[in-house]
Amino acid sequence: MQQRLHAIRHRHLFRQLSPLSHGSTPWISVDGHKLLNLSSNNYLGFADHPHLKQAASAAIEQYGCGTGSSRLIAGSTFLHQQLEARLAAFKGHEQALLFTSGYQANVGIIAALAGPRDIILSDELNHASLIDGCRLSGAQSRTYAHCSLIALQQQLEECSTSGQRGLTFVVTDSVFSMDGDLAPLAEIAALCERYQAFLIVDEAHASGCLGPAGRGLVAQLPQSAHENILTISTLSKAFGSIGAFMSGTTLMKDFLINVARPFIFTTSLPPADLAASLAALDLLEEDPDLPGRLQQKAAFFRTSLQQLGFDTLASATHIIPLLIGDAERTMHMAAHLREEGLYAVAIRPPTVPMGASRLRFSLMASHTDEDLFFALDIIKKVGSQMGLV
Ligand code: PMP
Repeated sequence: MQQRLHAIRHRHLFRQLSPLSHGSTPWISVDGHKLLNLSSNNYLGFADHPHLKQAASAAIEQYGCGTGSSRLIAGSTFLHQQLEARLAAFKGHEQALLFTSGYQANVGIIAALAGPRDIILSDELNHASLIDGCRLSGAQSRTYAHCSLIALQQQLEECSTSGQRGLTFVVTDSVFSMDGDLAPLAEIAALCERYQAFLIVDEAHASGCLGPAGRGLVAQLPQSAHENILTISTLSKAFGSIGAFMSGTTLMKDFLINVARPFIFTTSLPPADLAASLAALDLLEEDPDLPGRLQQKAAFFRTSLQQLGFDTLASATHIIPLLIGDAERTMHMAAHLREEGLYAVAIRPPTVPMGASRLRFSLMASHTDEDLFFALDIIKKVGSQMGLV
């Protein structure tokens, strides 16, 4: 352990936990200092919304704190059923199935669907949980260049002519968590249809934030494409709660209930979190323009950073990287920003490739215009002090 930690420290990649008060709100306090939070996935500001808090408290009063069991034993309640029905309707899919976290959903779903005879084609920037699912499945997993339709088509072509006996899967995030860019989903879905590959899309950062009324980016595809797409979404980000769900067909749901081990062998989500997610759906349905307002703020912030001369990669969403490159310099910039009142974490390898360290800003609908001007002033000042712009 010591040797490995020493090597991690040496490469400026050592990580430590630092407790924050109210980690999910726009303003947090760290060691008594007030900081503007630009690192939360509480994108719609729901995590501390009174409607969610009331719903969660009421559910605890009525049902208690835990379910005491997995779904297939004695842990499947009417609240689970109600939330699944509401999530399926929200997504416009036949069914939804809850998981205890997005990580578990991704690992469990991929490992349930794919096996050693199959091939999985996976975008090189996919989230770690998708990568781990590919590994656990035992399938032959191949990465394709980030968002490259040419590379994907080439690999699909190879699969279709190689005489392999198994199935072909394509796995992609719809919004990439560290770059904030978008997968070309319509084209990927068309390729999957053409080569008879099954598509798995992780909408962790899109659900609640993008697409029609926040329904995600799969919702923009024609309904006919949905039969062969399995969508995974989290409840831990825009929904302000915890947990995840797959949405798709009845066949997919029945299959996963019977085969996905992280669904079968874990205790079900507790009442408070289910009630909070139901309350988040209420809020989204009452205010379907909220995701659009988040994207407007993000567009303003991103354009302003670009005008200052920063590299925001191909971000097109509320996740906005500020590329620095070197891990040590990135840590320096994060520390300077913090001294000036901004909380923006440095993202370093292995989360991103070597030489691609960055600050990752994530915007919340609850950030005010003043918050954004405050942040931009500080980023400009620190960036020019460091010779970045
Ligand atoms: N998928 C993506 C793209 C993510 O960014 C994350 C979490 N950051 C997850 C899945 C895992 O979700 P959860 O936090 O609910 O486990």
